[in-house]
Amino acid sequence: MKIDLHIHSTASDGSFTPAEIVSLASTLNLKAIAITDHDSVEGAKAAMQLPSPAPLNLLAGVEISTSFPDTFTCGGSLHLLGYDMDVDDPTLNQLLLTLRQAREKRTPKIIRRLNALGHDITLPELFSRFKKGQVGRPHIAQLMMEKGFVNSIDEAFDNFLGKNGPAYVDKHRIDCEQAIKTVINAGGISVLAHPGLIKLPPNKTLEELITALKKAGLNGIEAYYPNHTKGETTDYLNIAKQFDLLVTGGTDFHGTIKPEIQMGTGTGEFFVPHVLYDIIKKHKPV
Ligand code: AMP
Ligand code: FE
Ligand code: FE
Ligand code: ZN
Repeated sequence: MKIDLHIHSTASDGSFTPAEIVSLASTLNLKAIAITDHDSVEGAKAAMQLPSPAPLNLLAGVEISTSFPDTFTCGGSLHLLGYDMDVDDPTLNQLLLTLRQAREKRTPKIIRRLNALGHDITLPELFSRFKKGQVGRPHIAQLMMEKGFVNSIDEAFDNFLGKNGPAYVDKHRIDCEQAIKTVINAGGISVLAHPGLIKLPPNKTLEELITALKKAGLNGIEAYYPNHTKGETTDYLNIAKQFDLLVTGGTDFHGTIKPEIQMGTGTGEFFVPHVLYDIIKKHKPV
């Protein structure tokens, strides 16, 4: 049996509601899933309030946008996954709210840039299409596609919204050590997401990053991820052993926003062994 511990819902930039995700996971016969929305536990909360879809297990989840440790002196984002925490924890919810409020302030700046580039797109139409607090670049890309400005979401990112694009606006991130500690204090475990996607500064190694995060309490590493090559996955499994970290994995399913990625199987061959779910549950002190 398979599990998928990295899934986005409509509470962030996924196109499926939490209920649709649970229903699809049941149909796919998955043993466990975690809804890990960007900077929100609303998706996980909604899924956990549904009638128990046994034998599918639901793990609370979140994917937090953080900065690198101070000693790394570089821009860019690190994504930290939180699992099995109390989704009502006030400190965690306050931290996530701060990130979502910053996102709300960023959106008008991106729209202004697109307007200056000649694209007729407004905030009211964006917020009538998507929920205000959840809007990120993928939603803007989707609306640009629907309005015929671009042919695909990728084209919107490549030509406008991506890191070096003319409508790019940087995102507020919180300190990675603070995110790790907040997840742990909420009773959860903290996991470094998709290490293969991390853009390290040239003078630093992944081992140095993990050493710094481990000091803050990091519990795990997402070794299984569709973009990781077999060689990378092996490297990350070895790192997990070396640093005594839990191993997790998931597809980063976003529905139609990333149509090439399927829940549970990624681009086809991918799967995450279900034993990892049992190990995560065992790790937690009761
Ligand atoms: P944001 O959080 O608003 O900065 O948007 C980042 C999100 O955009 C990521 O989590 C991805 O889901 C998505 N994303 C980034 N690049 C692309 C791309 N080329 N095509 C589709 N989605 C992308
Ligand atoms: Fe995303
Ligand atoms: Fe991510
Ligand atoms: Zn993700």
